[in-house]
Amino acid sequence: MCGIVGVISKDKIIKKNVLLDLLKRLEYRGYDSAGIGFMSLGKLRVIKQKGSIDKLRSIVKNDCLGVTCIAHTRWATHGKPNLHNAHPFLSESKTWAIVHNGIIENYLDLKKELGNIKFSSSTDSEVIAQLLEKDSDKKDINKLIRVCNKLKGSFALLCMSVTNPNSLFIAKRKSPIYVMKGKDGIIVASDTICFEGFGKSYYSLEDDEFCEVGLEKIEFYNKKGKKIKKEEQKLESLNYSSSKNGFEHFMLKEIMEEGLVVSNIIKKYSSEPFLSFNECVVRKIKKVVLIGCGSAYHAGLIGARFFEKNTLIDARCYIASEFRYLNNKIDKDTLYIFISQSGETADTLASLELVKNSGGLCVGVTNVMHSTLAKMVDIVLDVCAGVEVAVASTKAYIAQVVVLYMLSKHIEGILKSKSINFLKDVEELRLTLQKNEINNVDKVASLISKKQSVIFIGRDLDYYSSLEASLKLKEVSYISSFACPSGELKHGYLAQVDNTTCVVVIATKIDLLDKNLNNASEVDARDGKIIICSPFKIEDKYTQIKVENITSDLICCLVARKLQYLAYQTSIIKGINPDKPRNLAKSVTVE
Ligand code: GLU
Repeated sequence: MCGIVGVISKDKIIKKNVLLDLLKRLEYRGYDSAGIGFMSLGKLRVIKQKGSIDKLRSIVKNDCLGVTCIAHTRWATHGKPNLHNAHPFLSESKTWAIVHNGIIENYLDLKKELGNIKFSSSTDSEVIAQLLEKDSDKKDINKLIRVCNKLKGSFALLCMSVTNPNSLFIAKRKSPIYVMKGKDGIIVASDTICFEGFGKSYYSLEDDEFCEVGLEKIEFYNKKGKKIKKEEQKLESLNYSSSKNGFEHFMLKEIMEEGLVVSNIIKKYSSEPFLSFNECVVRKIKKVVLIGCGSAYHAGLIGARFFEKNTLIDARCYIASEFRYLNNKIDKDTLYIFISQSGETADTLASLELVKNSGGLCVGVTNVMHSTLAKMVDIVLDVCAGVEVAVASTKAYIAQVVVLYMLSKHIEGILKSKSINFLKDVEELRLTLQKNEINNVDKVASLISKKQSVIFIGRDLDYYSSLEASLKLKEVSYISSFACPSGELKHGYLAQVDNTTCVVVIATKIDLLDKNLNNASEVDARDGKIIICSPFKIEDKYTQIKVENITSDLICCLVARKLQYLAYQTSIIKGINPDKPRNLAKSVTVE
């Protein structure tokens, strides 16, 4: 979470816009507060503001920035999202300014060690600036290395020192940070999304590596303070665009891109099928374990069902923040699949590290091919969704489900020694998505926006779709919502139902339709409002969200899309910006 960016260039005027435009590209990582740090007349100064980057832009003067400057957009972990807790932080005598992404777990102990220093914030981050100021080493880079060796937790750090006004000092552990030497100067950022349009290659720091960068130099160090050599990496274009292509919000734009994403997946995997999953690898797999958080976890639940149904291999999906503390035995004949849109989800990476250290076969399903996850796994599968800006995942979720479907079918083909044309299922999905039929949802959104709570129910895959639909609705409309398997309603959940409740019944399987309709009438009898989300014609007394019918289990993607749009529309009716829901951020790089 939190986005950090630094720029070194001689061009002062351009820099304000460049710096804030780059910071804007990172706004998906948090928008509690924003701030910049720079040198002015020989002194380190900061300007910060609670709230969005646009608010900050209005108070930063064009020509106030020196050669180097740093900037931060915050998602608060320690300390309220107010002005005092906004980054950058200055040390007590203003000799250092720092911005931080991550969590310093031992900050209270370190604060105690520092004694009488006056802290201006209640964050974990500020202690770093104070420690840097107190360090006695002569060289600034050594100070940074010594201070970081004392820190526990995670950090991407960008620091400025008053004694080296033309340099930036960088450190990394478990939070990403990258450096690019562009033609007009240097950019340091949390995400390579900031590099598009500025150059063709960049450096990626590994954990416990450090860097001092100035106009004429880029020097890397290890944690012992020894200089190290690093190779530049080629920048793969992410086709980043700050434009919403005429849509009012990124969330809507991204929902509308889902057909295109599926078409990208078809292109990618028809030319490069799952070659790493050859007969020899596949026949050894006795179990599949999928691991993710949030929407990626829901995609994993659906993926696990695909594996069970199609390959008959036991499959189970875990929430990463749980898995990492379960002390489960890691089996060599289990296929471990880690799902993360950003490839930087802290709990997913921690689970991956655990499995990797025990020698399990690790597969990554991600949207960012240069991410930490992509680099750590044995086999990486690109979901080809393109940059997803809105905080609530839409197109990346669909893409994860599709890739997991294809992988399960590919493995099924090998195990059954027959060729399965699963691309035709994906093609059918693409064609249906590209028709963009979402218009019958608006009326339901207006109805839902007046309710106090929404329960999504379904059976089998439809239950997993319920979990995702419920998450989407609560993320962007703040309406209290949850999901339960249809059959579980009467085991407690029904006590919640009255005329302020809406129950959305997802029913895509004809053989389970009657059972689901029975559950609907139980709700109806207790004055709850019923919405049926189904491809089948249902009696008129219920409001229906009609889903297009397709032949494969990928119909869950069509359900997801309708209900993503329902969440979107509901947020609009409630006057909420769906791209930046309160308290959330996109790339969850802290535990
Ligand atoms: N812990 C820092 C803060 O609360 C950084 C948070 C983050 O990276 O998400 O300000």
